[in-house]
Amino acid sequence: MSRAAAIVSGVTDVLPDTAPTALDVLHSVFGFESFRGEQQAIVEQIIAGGDAVVLMPTGGGKSLCYQVPSLVREGTGIVVSPLIALMQDQVDALQAVGVRAAFLNSTQDAAERDSVERAYLAGQLDLLYVAPERLSSESTKRFLANGTIALFAIDEAHCVSQWGHDFRPDYLSLGDLAERWPDVPRIALTATATDATHREITERLHLSNAAHFVASFDRPNIQYRIVPKNEPRKQLVDFIRKEGAGQAGIVYALSRNTVEKTAAHLQSQGINALPYHAGLDSSVRQKTQSRFLREDGIVVVATIAFGMGIDKPDVRFVAHIDLPKSVEGYYQETGRAGRDGEPSVAWLAYGLQDVVQQRRMIDESPGDLAHRRRMSAHLDAMLALCETVECRRTNLLSYFGQPSEPCGNCDTCLDPPEVWDGTIPAQKLLSTVVRLKRERNQEFGAGHLIDILRGKTTPRTTQWTHETLATWGIGHDLTEQQWRGVVRQLLAKRLLATRGEYGTLGLTDDSASVLSGARAVPMRTEPERRSSSSKARRQSASDLAPGDAELFEALRAWRAVVAKQQGVPAYIIFGDATLRAVATEKPDSIDALSAITGIGEKKRATFGQQLIDVVAGRVPADLTFDA
Ligand code: ADP
Ligand code: ZN
Repeated sequence: MSRAAAIVSGVTDVLPDTAPTALDVLHSVFGFESFRGEQQAIVEQIIAGGDAVVLMPTGGGKSLCYQVPSLVREGTGIVVSPLIALMQDQVDALQAVGVRAAFLNSTQDAAERDSVERAYLAGQLDLLYVAPERLSSESTKRFLANGTIALFAIDEAHCVSQWGHDFRPDYLSLGDLAERWPDVPRIALTATATDATHREITERLHLSNAAHFVASFDRPNIQYRIVPKNEPRKQLVDFIRKEGAGQAGIVYALSRNTVEKTAAHLQSQGINALPYHAGLDSSVRQKTQSRFLREDGIVVVATIAFGMGIDKPDVRFVAHIDLPKSVEGYYQETGRAGRDGEPSVAWLAYGLQDVVQQRRMIDESPGDLAHRRRMSAHLDAMLALCETVECRRTNLLSYFGQPSEPCGNCDTCLDPPEVWDGTIPAQKLLSTVVRLKRERNQEFGAGHLIDILRGKTTPRTTQWTHETLATWGIGHDLTEQQWRGVVRQLLAKRLLATRGEYGTLGLTDDSASVLSGARAVPMRTEPERRSSSSKARRQSASDLAPGDAELFEALRAWRAVVAKQQGVPAYIIFGDATLRAVATEKPDSIDALSAITGIGEKKRATFGQQLIDVVAGRVPADLTFDA
């Protein structure tokens, strides 16, 4: 009898000698009600001995696709995972639900390795995580051949792609597993969405007979919001206070300097923030990462160096205070929010300066022309997402080739922006640029042009006698903020270009069509005075009744103490979704706990009484609340 059969029959006495079904394992081990999306079809394919290629977004539930079959099939599931630093957490999480899991990697000493190897050979492991470099060695393969292998799972399978950014040479040798173990099912999984990667995985891992599962890349629980950037730090603090108080979040910025300053500012505002970038000592970075995973409510302010492989499921918000360089990057970074499926927010503040700066960075980049063109195309796609008056999610998904309907959970759906005809202001601005160039051979940046249009006398306008220009003061009907919005949108649409070191503004090939009146320029209203996020807020706040919210906080506090005592991240004890369900259902008996998502047999036995105590307002017997 397999281990899972023992777990299932031992506790429920329903299936004494037959192997458990996938659904039995899902219920009794993981405590989940039903499979999600294509999980069931994938699991069945593997249990039946077939191969699979799985493309599923972050948080989609890839792990269960190989964990459940490993428990149902005879033998040990071998999981190839490139992220050695995270193996310990993965194994801890499995052990917490009663699964016999272990790993083999270079962080272990000989004795530890030896005991894992012996357990494997004795058939005492359900899952064994190995680093790819280990699996590519002949001695490891010989060792594995002496035990029983239930399946091979190749996680982060896009690492096999030489053109991707996470290429690992050791992944290339994983194709050999097909020849060596033709009868062992193999499953390759990734969250990378492109067709090219999909083809490479199939080919290089010799998965020509595999069934393919491509999930929707939508992350419906993430609310996408993009706001005009005015005072980024203040906006960020307001955002965190309103929506993310006490919650784990990531704030992304482009430079180390901005990261440091922003983290310091958040701290000065009483927000528990830590900086993270490649310039910090690796021990500091390690500590920050570990605190982020283990403590509740830490905000990490980081460059994109932070996040790859961070499995933390309860990141409630990802904020960008600088414009990401591509939609792929944005999708990947925002995807770190809400892996647990709970409501989460992706918030981006973006302004004129971002466009100017990034166009300049591309102009000055050392790469060849083709490289600059690629970067430009990436930026244009990102700008189109920022400036769209349609659903953000529809825009995002269509970028990945997936059609969709307006989502109802992004800023443009919740609070549809008004569109106004910006043709005349655009003409006023462009003709000012033309006159300065033609009449005086001068070019200026946005600030000075806006002063001219608004007829605002400054030392510079006087010095250049710009008061005598025909366009002086013709734009006094718009505020400075509105003008900045006009400039930004013209830049985003490539109807205006920035030039040189100072980011002065000039015409593009398309500007003439606007000046001649042949082309209209619809613009997004800047929501400076609109009640920007009130509706959005109601949707994203967890909708708990006041009393339940209090209980939820008490449960979180209890979880924090237990996690600390056991030295594991809080989510390994219970996820937020489970605590929320406990807070609303208020179970008063061990039996009543079975109805709650995420409580399997093992956790019910370990923590059931404590949960009931917290619900009843008692301090659990074997616990001190002094942490
Ligand atoms: P991925 O590896 O695809 O990013 P995970 O496997 O980490 O996603 O799963 C994301 C979250 O969803 C985890 O918290 C997991 O426990 C939860 N989850 C996965 N499948 C189910 C399911 N069928 N029912 C309930 N929760 C699930
Ligand atoms: Zn939408």
